[in-house]
Amino acid sequence: MLILSQTPHHVQIYFYTLCLKYILDSDFFECSENAGVWLPPSDGFDVASPSLLDIKTIGLNLLSSPLDLFIFRRLPLLLAQRQDQVQWHFNPSCKACKFAPSCERNTIETGRLGVIPNLSVGDAQVLKDLLHLRRHRLKQSSEPLTEIEDLHTLVQTHGLVKKISSGGSSTVKKARRLLAIPRQRHFLSASASPIVEAAVNKMIQVCIYLTSPNIH
Ligand code: SF4
Repeated sequence: MLILSQTPHHVQIYFYTLCLKYILDSDFFECSENAGVWLPPSDGFDVASPSLLDIKTIGLNLLSSPLDLFIFRRLPLLLAQRQDQVQWHFNPSCKACKFAPSCERNTIETGRLGVIPNLSVGDAQVLKDLLHLRRHRLKQSSEPLTEIEDLHTLVQTHGLVKKISSGGSSTVKKARRLLAIPRQRHFLSASASPIVEAAVNKMIQVCIYLTSPNIH
């Protein structure tokens, strides 16, 4: 079912509105301040009849500012890029994309961060920033590792996350939360991040963190 609150539908509505404004003769056509989508009845057409109440509208003024920037500035720049320059991240919203099978294959073969399930574009950026921070703070040149190998090395190296978090970086705090890195690692043999471990070894991880005051 079409959910109007989804960004792709807003882009679609706004783009159609721009096309109609361009195509239709302005002597006979006046654009409304709102655009809408007529959604199917929630119980389906078999049970309910179409109703005008199912037309969901949105004010064009809410769409124009962000979408003018996207359609007329960002999109042309993106389309002008060479394929190998395009930033992409395989994520849960890729399901409906026709390129999903090849992007998923590429992600697995080249060890991109998208091998971590349900990692949004914003979350992936946090982890990329974390890897960048590590290279920058520790003055390390980039090694020939895949992204997930790089992340695995970082979280497995005892004390390294703490070292680069000196100064209270919000990136490190967010990354800790995303990767479920415990505040204290009670056993050196224990996985520092069950999420990274699961992505690297393709196995479900079960972690039990003991909070007894006698364990240090
Ligand atoms: S499947 Fe690939 S091309 Fe499609 S949205 Fe996802 S990353 Fe982009």
